[in-house]
Amino acid sequence: MSATRIWIKNPLATFTPEAVDGRGGLVIENGLISEVLAAGQQPARPCDQLFDARDHVVLPGLINTHHHFYQTLTRAWGPVVNQPLFPWLKTLYPVWARLTPDALALASKVAMAELLLSGCTLAADHHYLFPRGMEESIDIQVAAVRELGMRAMLTRGSMSRGADPDCAGPMLPLLGDRGDHGGERQASR
Ligand SMILES: [Zn+2]
Repeated sequence: MSATRIWIKNPLATFTPEAVDGRGGLVIENGLISEVLAAGQQPARPCDQLFDARDHVVLPGLINTHHHFYQTLTRAWGPVVNQPLFPWLKTLYPVWARLTPDALALASKVAMAELLLSGCTLAADHHYLFPRGMEESIDIQVAAVRELGMRAMLTRGSMSRGADPDCAGPMLPLLGDRGDHGGERQASR
């Protein structure tokens, strides 16, 4: 298959090193920047697609270093809106305990779609919820990442028991055991 070349033409502004004139835009070839064009410059070879970027600013993809994709589904749930952290957590534990594979897949896709729409192309997700039946949580997230074509660092999140055992206690059964949660399995693929 021949290479796909996309010209992001004449953006309002381009994020480049100071000495580089990027006013003519960028040529993307198979997902990589192959040319940075100065004002008035044409691509070296014809492009398959042209994106008129006159109303757009071109930036490198933003990076989100701390996310919990699964929480996307309960973010606007009435009983916890505007709650302080600990009451928020305690109210949500019984809800999160019923997380299903389909719900996690949906939450992950919604979370990443929101990130992509805001210019974020790489996210680190700290997943720590492994109730019974959700041992494949990381696999589910990997599938969602691949489906959306985003970049992600999926990591096993953790939670301190902290000074308030009353808060952390109900969470413990949801954390799973210390065994494989998919990270090792995925890393070996
Ligand atoms: Zn967190």
